[in-house]
Amino acid sequence: MQYTDEFKSMVAAFMRLPTEFPNVRPASVAQFILESGRGSSLLAREHRNFAGMKWRPEMAGVATKKLVIAPSETADFCSFESLEKFAEGYWIFLNRAPYEGWKAHADDPYDFIGFVGRIWAADPAYTEKVQNLIGEAEALIATLREPHVHTDGAPCCGGMIDPPEPMAHREKPAVRWDPSPFNWSRGGTRIDTVVMHYTTSRNLQGTIDWFKSPNNIHKTAAHYVIGRDGTIVQMVKDADACTHGNSQNRRSIGIEHSAAPGDPMTEPQERASVALVRWLMQEYAIAPERVIGHKCAPRATSCPGDLFAAYGATSASDCAAVTRAIQTWVRERVLAEGVIA
Ligand SMILES: [Zn+2]
Ligand SMILES: [Zn+2]
Repeated sequence: MQYTDEFKSMVAAFMRLPTEFPNVRPASVAQFILESGRGSSLLAREHRNFAGMKWRPEMAGVATKKLVIAPSETADFCSFESLEKFAEGYWIFLNRAPYEGWKAHADDPYDFIGFVGRIWAADPAYTEKVQNLIGEAEALIATLREPHVHTDGAPCCGGMIDPPEPMAHREKPAVRWDPSPFNWSRGGTRIDTVVMHYTTSRNLQGTIDWFKSPNNIHKTAAHYVIGRDGTIVQMVKDADACTHGNSQNRRSIGIEHSAAPGDPMTEPQERASVALVRWLMQEYAIAPERVIGHKCAPRATSCPGDLFAAYGATSASDCAAVTRAIQTWVRERVLAEGVIA
């Protein structure tokens, strides 16, 4: 099914808007699919009206009146200046007198459209057409819920529907400061990304020495290196950039984990990594989907190796599989342990 990009953004905006009646949403999205031709209609493209809503005076707070020559008829329709206004407008439209009683049918999307459909449209087959699209609507909603990263380094589109739960405030975990000379200015770029690496060696001191060595001609470094025993060594100030993640250097914090090829994280190392990533996300308001693997920087590299093997990615995995594994790790470890009860 082909949706316009704006259609998907609209569904995300609609899902983000809180409602007492979440079970209605798949039926509403099915209406939007049908009414707007998956976002392709003139009303959708020019007026952000994805539901064929005619102008009604109650809509004055969220929409303007526009005479539109639509395929169905020439009439006054609602024109919305933003997707958020459209989402809000849908509920206002529904809460008008003609639909009174819909809340008694709000537990089930099929029941809901069974009640609303015959009022919404003159077409006697409208209800059945919408009901046939509820499965598609549910699949689209599920797709938009999946975390995702942008491998081209584009800023995040905010594609996640559910905002992350607020995290309990955490202090920065204890670090040992052992500075590397290989750092440079971010040039004003905001920190919004964490890049996860492995060192290909279990020797923490070896990595520290390398990030200070005159033989390191590419002057590579990382902000943090986490040893097998959970020791965290900070080598570059967060405020500065360093060379670890290609296109992501200016915007990111780099975390190295001591690990030989094939090694997953040790338990103390993972605890330290979880605590550090959680603190970084909190401190710099980093979105969960912006914790990425070096592979997605993007770069042909085995990094981050087998650190996330328990979450489904190995050194042989591609960026997409590494992303899924890291996102699972963030959800199950970093966010789960930090949520306010
Ligand atoms: Zn995004
Ligand atoms: Zn790396």
